[in-house]
Amino acid sequence: MTAAEPTTESEIEEEESAVETARRQLERAAAHLDVDEGIVERLRHPTSVYRVTIPLERDDGTREMFTGYRAHHDSVRGPYKGGLRYHPAVNEEECVGLSMWMTWKCAVMDLPFGGAKGGVVVDPKDLSSDEKERLTRRFAEELRPVIGSKTDIPAPDMGTDPKTMAWFMDAYSMQEGETEPGVVTGKPPVIGGSYGREKAPGRSVGIITEQAIDYYDWDVTDTTVAVQGFGSVGANAARYLDDLGASIVAVSDIDGAIYDPDGFDTNDVEDHDETPGMVSGYADAQSLSNEELLELDVDVLIPAAIGNVLTGENARRVQADMIVEGANGPTTSTAGQIFEERDIPVIPDILANAGGVTVSYFEWLQDINRRSWRLERVHEELQTEMLRAWGCVRDEYDARDITWRDAAYIVALERIAEAHDARGLWP
Ligand code: NAD
Repeated sequence: MTAAEPTTESEIEEEESAVETARRQLERAAAHLDVDEGIVERLRHPTSVYRVTIPLERDDGTREMFTGYRAHHDSVRGPYKGGLRYHPAVNEEECVGLSMWMTWKCAVMDLPFGGAKGGVVVDPKDLSSDEKERLTRRFAEELRPVIGSKTDIPAPDMGTDPKTMAWFMDAYSMQEGETEPGVVTGKPPVIGGSYGREKAPGRSVGIITEQAIDYYDWDVTDTTVAVQGFGSVGANAARYLDDLGASIVAVSDIDGAIYDPDGFDTNDVEDHDETPGMVSGYADAQSLSNEELLELDVDVLIPAAIGNVLTGENARRVQADMIVEGANGPTTSTAGQIFEERDIPVIPDILANAGGVTVSYFEWLQDINRRSWRLERVHEELQTEMLRAWGCVRDEYDARDITWRDAAYIVALERIAEAHDARGLWP
């Protein structure tokens, strides 16, 4: 062994990037299916990756250049769809990998979209609101040739929000000469956003957890749940399950976790957006670290904060009987293998948190039809779509000796491959 070779599980998994993860998942799913190797090879690569330079006039009058990306992975099932993130770590390879994840996520939900992802290499905390608006408008202009309501529909992601989408949509519409609400999703409802969009990813995590609890014949009212990351996804998932009667015994934010074996009233705990620091500062509960929360002896663990928190280093100490992924990519591949060996089911992100892109699809339909849906309708249709997707993944899981993650990727790949097969290759 040379000095450069990795020596531990955690060192080995550090090596895997988003694009490598996406390719590995593709290969695992392809091994179970009779898919043309040419189609699999096509799906290993993005269709296009755009790199743009965005000049920004800072508030003090100086000019600074920023780099932006937009990766298009596959559009065989419909227009590209995926978020725009503003983060210092944005890079081309990450955008490509995340665009591939979006292809699988849209396909497992049977949405008529393909996968995209993009962003700007910037720390949004370094920008004033005016600077963020100018950056967003110029980014929209630079991407204008490759986006559109029929071609590629961005959405919010890390560091971007409904306000960012409003600026983006306005800049695009001004140049097109007509209001084009369907060019982005995740807008405020007053300009064509959908009611229920912001809470949808957490709600879908709740819906899927409820189905998984039922699948294993547990009683939801006897189920204990720990949620890492009491933000948009985590708080909405926790409140959904709390309403069903589950006992939410631990929640956390970036500063730490709180634990009460008797369970919290989740409406008493303010989420991170409501008041940052309120979770870890909550009185009447035992304090824990985020690491300790992940290792609690609970029925269900929902990592809903950031990626790569369940690793080769801690996976053997996890005591939960089931894991439902609220965040994108919280389980490294080494941890996934350990959970497989230990028979701990892991319900994957591409299914569990797909409520966000599903309600984005509803938003796009509302924009095209210029007709707003009531919140109750959004909830009903989301429930229907989540149960349908759950049913398809469960059928694959029952039919083969595989993990829940493989089952979800098989459902996705089968649909994408069939569409490629039906459309053929031109010329
Ligand atoms: P958020 O910012 O609303 O909440 C994140 C929460 O995690 C906060 O409580 C924060 O304090 C906590 N946190 C941040 N860093 C942490 C750390 N290092 N350790 C422990 N806790 C930490 O974010 P969100 O929108 O809820 O997104 C959470 C995850 O879900 C991300 O992986 C995101 O990509 C994924 N996701 C979000 C959406 C969406 O539309 N909001 C959709 C699908 C997936």
